[in-house]
Amino acid sequence: MILAVLEQSDGSLKKISAELAAAARRAQALLGADGVALLLIGADPAAVDAAMALDCDLCLTVQGEAFATYAAEAWAAAVVQAAKEVSAPLVLLGSTSFGRDLAPRVAGIMQAGLLADLGDLTVEDGRLVAERSVYSGKVIAKVASLSDVTVATVRPNAFSPAGAGTSPSQRRELEVAVDPATVHCRVREVRRQAATRPELTEASVVVAGGRGLKDPENFHLVEELADLLGAAVGTTRATVDAGWRPHSEQIGQTGKNIAPALYINVGISGAVQHISGVLGSRTIVSINRDAEAPIFKISDYGLVGDALEILPHLIDEVRRLG
Ligand SMILES: Cc1cc2nc3c(=O)[nH]c(=O)nc-3n(C[C@H](O)[C@H](O)[C@H](O)COP(=O)(O)OP(=O)(O)OC[C@H]3O[C@@H](n4cnc5c(N)ncnc54)[C@H](O)[C@@H]3O)c2cc1C
Repeated sequence: MILAVLEQSDGSLKKISAELAAAARRAQALLGADGVALLLIGADPAAVDAAMALDCDLCLTVQGEAFATYAAEAWAAAVVQAAKEVSAPLVLLGSTSFGRDLAPRVAGIMQAGLLADLGDLTVEDGRLVAERSVYSGKVIAKVASLSDVTVATVRPNAFSPAGAGTSPSQRRELEVAVDPATVHCRVREVRRQAATRPELTEASVVVAGGRGLKDPENFHLVEELADLLGAAVGTTRATVDAGWRPHSEQIGQTGKNIAPALYINVGISGAVQHISGVLGSRTIVSINRDAEAPIFKISDYGLVGDALEILPHLIDEVRRLG
């Protein structure tokens, strides 16, 4: 079976989970594997129910004290055991902070090939071949795993989320024994910021501002537009380094990858390190006073002008439209 390792937060499946289920189903068809198994570790019952409702054949769950919070060694042991249980030729994880931490550990333990940040999947000569963008999206590389078992991370938004299955899936609880001496690092506490806006990596609309906004005070315009659109707020490393915005809002190579339906950016030049984090966006709207700014090369719509003049008009217009 193809195994997909799902992610949950506060009792809900994360968006990437349904995308992983879809990627697993596609890989199953390509490889002629005998089904799709989804794995949830330390998940709330509501998330397990949501996983069972996805198009899959088997839902594996791992519970217990060792899995109450994330501990890389323990969770990797659970993934490895699940992969062995279903004889998985392919283990899929999200290309998220969680998946990027876990996938190399799992691949290391299983002596498996690791394919990172996959976009699309095909099969050539009986081997799974995946596409991934490299050099900040400038080149698409085709990568193949040469090992019998492959571990892969899937880029958010690369696959449309799986819908409900046609027949009910089975559930199996796995007993995973973890020697506490092997766990060197454990998340002790997760403190959430009082979030009034959607999470950047999950948002369907993102509004981001860069150094072109001139002053941190002017970010209230970005926030106002974001709130009218129900959007997340993002930014560039330049403003984070300047102390204008928190790192949690940084988009790009050393920040977060976003994949919204609409990405509006204001006063952002479009450095490769920023662009690499926004390539999953469906529609990109850019506002920049420099018509030659690199951001326009990847934009679907561009407005050349002063952001501080344009944004108040845009906000009024969005408010008027209701
Ligand atoms: C190893 C490394 C990793 C990095 N990682 C990241 C990363 O993860 N994310 C990231 O974003 N960057 C990253 N960077 C930094 C990146 O190279 C750029 O420096 C940064 O993205 C620039 O931010 P900016 O667009 O806000 O600022 P600038 O490049 O200064 O651009 C400001 C833009 O605003 C425009 N502008 C100015 N005034 C106005 C106005 N009144 N109205 C409208 N437009 C205006 C200008 O024309 C310009 O295009 C990284 C760099 C390195 C070396």
